[in-house]
This record gives sequence, structure tokens and C-alpha cells, in this order.
Amino acid sequence: MRVPFVDLATLHREIAGELREAVDDVWQRSAFTGAAAVEEFEQGFAAYCGSEHCVATGSGTAALEILLRAYGIGPGDEVVLPVNTFIATAEAVALVGARPVFVDVQETDGLIDFDGIDAAINSATRALIPVHLYGHPVDMDQVARIARRHGLLVIEDASQAHGARFREQRTGALADAAAFSFYPAKNLGACGEAGGITTRDAEIAERARMLRDHGARQKHCHEVVGRNDRMDGIQAAILKVKLHHLDRWNQQRRQIAAWYMEAIPEIRHCHAMGTGGDHVFHLMVVRVPRRDQVRQALMEQGIQTGVHYPTPLHLQPAFAHLQCTVGEFPVAEKLAEEILSVPMHPHLSREQVNYVTAQLRDAVHQG
Ligand SMILES: *Cc1c(COP(=O)(O)O)cnc(C)c1O
Repeated sequence: MRVPFVDLATLHREIAGELREAVDDVWQRSAFTGAAAVEEFEQGFAAYCGSEHCVATGSGTAALEILLRAYGIGPGDEVVLPVNTFIATAEAVALVGARPVFVDVQETDGLIDFDGIDAAINSATRALIPVHLYGHPVDMDQVARIARRHGLLVIEDASQAHGARFREQRTGALADAAAFSFYPAKNLGACGEAGGITTRDAEIAERARMLRDHGARQKHCHEVVGRNDRMDGIQAAILKVKLHHLDRWNQQRRQIAAWYMEAIPEIRHCHAMGTGGDHVFHLMVVRVPRRDQVRQALMEQGIQTGVHYPTPLHLQPAFAHLQCTVGEFPVAEKLAEEILSVPMHPHLSREQVNYVTAQLRDAVHQG
């Protein structure tokens, strides 16, 4: 049996008619930038998240960077974030000239460690970026408590958790602002690069709109040096169609995770990373001994897997100038050697999940 890690072709086949119609419509209007489709998606997505404003951007990385700039974060400022995340979270901080300050993660779920946040804060700290990694919402009560005590901004990196909830509120409405990626393989993905910002703050939304569009509020009046980072009309039209299916796809992901969880606790030396809360399972992550051998054995049985992420950010060459050391974030370093992301997408069958868990059991128990 062959089990792909993600399966966008099946997903797109399922809604091909709707997608074709939406793209055709943009084509016929031939309004590709700053189009009605973008505004319609922005309104739909803000409402879906339970936020006020959405500002669509060219990528998730751009969304983070534009948000940081909109808040005036730059040289001399520090921003606290987890050391186990995709590089973009820290990259955006570095790109605005601020310093990313890493915090270790919790062993149970790989999310930011709250005690570590306190220790990382100093007089230069401006903001916290909790990351709802793997689709698992961070305990935002804990984050808000720390932020309030130190007077800090909170920006969610919700790039892996579209639709996840914490205390009935969706991601995107859990802090001062949020950044989303709509990279194709995310829970809500475009057919190309795209991202977005959500916030209740009208002023920040307006600044973000200006920054994504050459620093102009009005054509030919450039108030600041901005950038070209708008979402294009075709991506917006596609995302608007897909938004209607997001809850159903997330529900399918949860069902698949439940199937995995019938078998994984029975596999000796194999542990699932936190599956509690209102998780939307962007990824299904387990911990296994001899991870690279297990991964190889699964590949030989036709099962594609991933590692999210094999190198904690403090050990990436791009951040060598921060002079972090091996052993500085022991939990993230240990997890990096043991974590394995098994296939997860809304169209996995029960048979495929059973096959993966059977092969996983064999691979873990060999050797
Ligand atoms: C995907 C992702 C991003 C970046 O998004 P792009 O759209 O690829 O720029 C940022 N943060 C996290 C946690 C992500 O998973």
C-alpha cells in the first residue's frame, strides 16, 4: 500500500467544479490584484475567526513581518518565541531588525514552555509569539497572564491551526493579532503562496494594508517604505471556496487522529504528542526511538513521513549570530531526535491508518 503524507490532488478533485467556477470568475473580470475576491475572502475569514479585520498578504511569512512592522517593532526590540517552530516565525522577527529570543518547549506537546517565557523577558521585550504548532492551540490564558504582567503584545502564529479553538474562541481571535499561512498544504491552503493577518485593532489593520501595498493608503502617496505583498485575486477566490469546507476537513482530520489514537498507545516505546484540546491536526506527530531507522523502514513500506522540525531554531546556521549553544534548549533538542510526523490529511482511509500503525509497530519493535 502507498500512503502519501498529504494528498492535495484528491482534495482538489473533490471540489473541482467549485474551484473552476471561482477561478473562471476572476479570469472573466480579469481583476487580479486588489480585487473584489480579496475583499470577499478577507471579510469571510475575519468573520470565520471571530475577529474584526483580515488583511490578506502574499505569504504567512509576510503576514508576520508586516504585523511586527505595523506594531513598530524593530531594531533594539526583542520578541519571545518557541525554539521548535518553522523558521518563518523567527525569520520575520529578524527581518524587521528585532532580536528573536528562543524559549524551550513542553515535552508533552512541543508547544512553548510557559516558565521559559518568564525567564526570557527583559526590558527590551516587546512581544510574545505563541505558535499553535501541529494544529494544537496554545493555552492562551497562560500567555495572556504573562503578557499582562509585563505589558507585552501577543501575536499568534496560527499558520498550522486554522479553525482550532481555545475556550470556544477560534485562533485568529485569541490575542492582539494573528498571522496565518495559506501555503497549499496547510489546513486552509491556496493553490500557490498566500497568507493573512487578523486583528480587532482597526489602526493596525490599516497600517498592515498600507505596508503590504508599497506604503500607500492612496494611490501614488507613499507614506512609508512598504513592500509588494498583496494576496492575488485567484488565490483569494480559491481560499473563499475552500473556507466553506474547512470545518468538515478539520473534522475528518480529527476522526483520522482518533483512529491513530486507537492503536498508538498500544505500541510500546511510541508516544503521540499532545492530542488534547480543540486540536485541528495539521500534523500527527509521534515520538519513537531510533527515529531515522523507523522513518526509513516506513518509507520502504510505501509510507511517507516528515519531521517537524529536525533542527531547533537556535542551532540553525541562520541564527548562529545569536550565539546559542548545544544543550541550551534540552527538551527541543531531545524532541528533534525522536519526533516523526505520520501521514495526515482529510482523505486518509481507515485502511491506510491501520496499515500505517501496523507498519509503525513493526518498525519500532525491529532492532
Ligand atoms: C507555514 C508556516 C509559516 C510561514 O508561512 P509561509 O506562508 O510559508 O510563508 C509560519 N509559521 C509557521 C508555524 C508555519 O507552519
